[in-house]
Amino acid sequence: MSKIIVVGGSLGGLLVANLLRSKGHEVDILEKVSGSLDGRGAGIVPHPVLIRALELCGIKIDDNVGVPVARRVTLDQKGQRITELDLPQIFTSWGRLYHMLKENFPDKHYHSGKNVISFGENSQEVMVHCEDGSSYQGELLIASDGLRSVIRNIVAPEIKPEYTGYVAWRGVSEEAALSQYMRNTLFDHFGFGLPEGEQMLGYPVAGFENNLNPGHRRYNFVWYRQAPEDTLLKDLLTDADGVFHPHGISPIQVNWKHITQVREAARKNLAPQFAEVLEKTGMVFFQPIYDVFSKRIAFNRVALMGDASFVARPHVGMGVSKAAEDALSILHHIDQLGATPEALEAYQQERLIPCQRVVARAQYLGKFMTAQGQEELKNNHIGIANRVMKETAIDISDIIMSDELIPENL
Ligand SMILES: Cc1cc2nc3c(=O)[nH]c(=O)nc-3n(C[C@H](O)[C@H](O)[C@H](O)COP(=O)(O)OP(=O)(O)OC[C@H]3O[C@@H](n4cnc5c(N)ncnc54)[C@H](O)[C@@H]3O)c2cc1C
Repeated sequence: MSKIIVVGGSLGGLLVANLLRSKGHEVDILEKVSGSLDGRGAGIVPHPVLIRALELCGIKIDDNVGVPVARRVTLDQKGQRITELDLPQIFTSWGRLYHMLKENFPDKHYHSGKNVISFGENSQEVMVHCEDGSSYQGELLIASDGLRSVIRNIVAPEIKPEYTGYVAWRGVSEEAALSQYMRNTLFDHFGFGLPEGEQMLGYPVAGFENNLNPGHRRYNFVWYRQAPEDTLLKDLLTDADGVFHPHGISPIQVNWKHITQVREAARKNLAPQFAEVLEKTGMVFFQPIYDVFSKRIAFNRVALMGDASFVARPHVGMGVSKAAEDALSILHHIDQLGATPEALEAYQQERLIPCQRVVARAQYLGKFMTAQGQEELKNNHIGIANRVMKETAIDISDIIMSDELIPENL
């Protein structure tokens, strides 16, 4: 059995590390952050491939995994339902997946507070170096260190995250804090709102300590809003003390004046149900949305996976499922070819084109959203809503290589 180093201990890193351990490999995870990563993410749509990967890790999946939702609805600005679509899905939470994977992995091989800064390799092994002076050796290095991957920056410095021109405002509010009107008309559904050039969506997720009981759940929202890079984005990334955070601002640092403005915009542009969710959310924050598009993901004894290799805009709801597909592919090729450069090359052969197509699909959905001006919405609100509900956050694994993936050039 082989010794493998995984850089990044979030969902992607934990998935591949657990899968490799299930086959008897010795795996060490190096994670920059000290302590738990809890509280990072909100809702996740788990596609079947993610469930399969969790089961292969030895994690038992039961009805407790998330909140089942049967229907999608689109609300107009007045809060009236303009159209709906039956599409059963389960919504789990980032924290739930993180805990299941973390608890399944031995603590002594999960090294927190290890900021990887470089690596060296010879014909047999890779040596990974951390900022604190420690080093770890393995036959392979799997980099799952996210959007701003340090390892990608070393092996493929030409690949940079590209800002899409919009951000996602996010947050969760307690079900118990919401009005009966909101709970009766929206809470149980995957809800959409379509202001000009923007998109609001929301769905129920588990509450505190994974409580799935009615009255104890939460409503998760994601509101995509345009923010030009040199003006509004710069302003948004500047905290209330005037400090600019070019690589992302943490939820607690978001300027309270920007939160006030986004709540005001919600009252003006969204259905009252969504506006209420924003008012009742304690921590409203945002994330700039980026594309990452790679031309190579295997570099001898080093491979990129998860957000380190490709980032597709969240409209496809594929981030964690894509990381699971990457992890399953790495596992399969190491099974076949051992912990060798050939296995990583075979992983690249398998994953490069499907991942490039997922990114392209997500770009198409994003461009469709930003292109919808007032006139289009006025003339064809129901048609646009039906299309958005039909195409957002669905399992596209069976159409990934077909021409249906990107229906029109935009
Ligand atoms: C608004 C929004 C909504 C989303 N909704 C969904 C959804 O519904 N469904 C879905 O599947 N996905 C969704 N995603 C995407 C999903 O969150 C990511 O694709 C997924 O979490 C990728 O995980 P990862 O492990 O590759 O990267 P990350 O979660 O970014 O983890 C990278 C890890 O590497 C660590 N790290 C970084 N640098 C170093 C270093 N130098 N040394 C050591 N460690 C390091 C970081 O601390 C971090 O823990 C959404 C994303 C956004 C922005």
